[in-house]
Amino acid sequence: MLNAGSSSLKFAVVDPQTGAQPLSGIGESLGNNKPSVSWRYRDARGERALEAGAAHGAVLGFLVGELITNMAARDLQLVAVGHRVVHGGEYFSHSVLIDTSTVEAIEACSALAPLHNPAGLLGIRAATEAFPQLPQVAVFDTAFHQTLPDYAYLYALPHHLYSEHGIRRYGMHGTSYRFVCERAAKLIGRPLEEVNIIAAHLGNGASVAAIKGGISVDTSMGMTPMEGLVMGTRCGDVDPGILIHLAESLHYAPAEINRLLNRESGLLGISELSNDCRALVEAALDGHRGAELALALFCYRLAKYIAAYAVPLRRIDALVFTGGIGENSVYVRAKVLEWLGGFGYLLDEENNRRIRAGAEGRITRADSSLALVIPTNEEWIIARDALQLIESRE
Ligand code: AMP
Repeated sequence: MLNAGSSSLKFAVVDPQTGAQPLSGIGESLGNNKPSVSWRYRDARGERALEAGAAHGAVLGFLVGELITNMAARDLQLVAVGHRVVHGGEYFSHSVLIDTSTVEAIEACSALAPLHNPAGLLGIRAATEAFPQLPQVAVFDTAFHQTLPDYAYLYALPHHLYSEHGIRRYGMHGTSYRFVCERAAKLIGRPLEEVNIIAAHLGNGASVAAIKGGISVDTSMGMTPMEGLVMGTRCGDVDPGILIHLAESLHYAPAEINRLLNRESGLLGISELSNDCRALVEAALDGHRGAELALALFCYRLAKYIAAYAVPLRRIDALVFTGGIGENSVYVRAKVLEWLGGFGYLLDEENNRRIRAGAEGRITRADSSLALVIPTNEEWIIARDALQLIESRE
């Protein structure tokens, strides 16, 4: 599994049957002065500096040359490379084997995800060179949400902006949603096709989705990952009139507006302290007003979205928290459920405190609507999709 960012490359060897990751690691600061790669192979860990300017290909060269060929990891049998690609536009509603037309379509979607898709392509190109004998598979963050009805994915803008330029809601975190929904259905003990779930993927980027019988019917991220919830450094929903005001009255250039909304807003912008939820919870508990306020905005916005998704779902069988914040933040989960008291959610404080760091389970009382914490495992979905695609080809 490869997950390429513009200056980073995460890799993991994933067993598609069990989800186990015997080998994993990350190359960081790629293309900069001091790139490095760190890895974990079973119980062993290591870190290595790479040559200045080394990029994605160097990380894969190291992975193939050192980790897989020379180290004990040669016992791992690789059958395919699965790539996480952020934006598949309307081209992809499922994962696909990569060929030249796939690469062209991912390139075509780069206009919609200029920060993410070019990085995904770097990973694909480097992996095609490093593993010429292996099939490559692309798994798209947007694909799961291609089932949204038109009244949910269209913006109330002139229709030609959609028909000519593809301006619509696409949504992200689909791979994570697929995993947690399957898991939630198992925990509830009913077929996925019969359960309605609201899932909140709360990491540095955060979104929430309404999923009816395993099918996504609405989600908070939009054409880009900026819409919806308050995030680490992204603003989520704002009045678009503010952008015009910034440009026309305060003379912000487009690149400045982009930086402001993407990198300087959200938890960081409100708290004026940090984008990191854990740091903010600690500060809030120490009485830091900005941290408290940032968390209040975060939880209130999320609770409002969850309540709104009762509209398409009508019946909600489970509310699922996942992602770094969803899986770990006792504070955020408690505050969100407090807002949702009117919808029958009653927190089980003891369970909420107990569940963190990789554990799954129920955080509401037996006489309450059901809220679950489920650690996500996008890598497993990517590995499973890759295996399924190469098996169906054979
Ligand atoms: P992710 O992008 O999924 O890795 O999630 C990153 C976010 O999870 C950051 O905001 C972290 O502060 C947050 N996070 C991780 N551990 C905790 C924790 N124990 N309490 C609160 N937030 C946490």
